[in-house]
Amino acid sequence: MVINKSITMGLGSFFKRNKDKKEEIVESHIDINNDDCKGLDCGKCVIACPNNVLTKDGEDTVVRNPLTCKHCKVCEAICPNDCIVVN
Ligand code: SF4
Ligand code: SF4
Repeated sequence: MVINKSITMGLGSFFKRNKDKKEEIVESHIDINNDDCKGLDCGKCVIACPNNVLTKDGEDTVVRNPLTCKHCKVCEAICPNDCIVVN
């Protein structure tokens, strides 16, 4: 299955490979409001995340890998615009 990676990540989904080498979609528990995100001028959440979960995709902030998130909510706390909610 071929799906545009940026669109997929923008929707908060993530692909992982299971033991049978089949891909499955893992829904992200991290909601990012990129309408309010300051984009490339900020990036505080990306830098602050201790598990390298978040990254920039152009001006958007996206979830790189929700499976490595430890629910510490540092990203939520540091965001100056309340753009991130960790469920
Ligand atoms: S909750 Fe913690 S580990 Fe998860 S994305 Fe935010 S800062 Fe990273
Ligand atoms: S901390 Fe908030 S405003 Fe800054 S890049 Fe992250 S989501 Fe965007």
